[in-house]
Amino acid sequence: MDCRLGCGACCIAPSISSPIPGMPNGKPAGTRCIQLNKDNLCSLFGRPERPKVCHEFKPCPVVCGTTNQEAINNITELEALT
Ligand code: SF4
Ligand code: SF4
Repeated sequence: MDCRLGCGACCIAPSISSPIPGMPNGKPAGTRCIQLNKDNLCSLFGRPERPKVCHEFKPCPVVCGTTNQEAINNITELEALT
């Protein structure tokens, strides 16, 4: 599937342990990434500073669901399990 541009769930719901420019200790679950712009797009997209983990995350129907809220719910649930 293609990413629903402007969803941003995978930049809000999960915790990220690797450093992000502006967030040197990564981010906790449920916290908006500082690099997520007002349109819910990654301001580092295509740039080398974008964390590897973000680059490696690929949209998939099981995680992303069919709505942005579903994606938030799915990722939050996965976080709680891991
Ligand atoms: S959760 Fe899925 S659809 Fe939403 S921004 Fe991330 S990859 Fe795209
Ligand atoms: S760096 Fe970009 S892709 Fe990674 S969590 Fe932040 S906004 Fe999302």
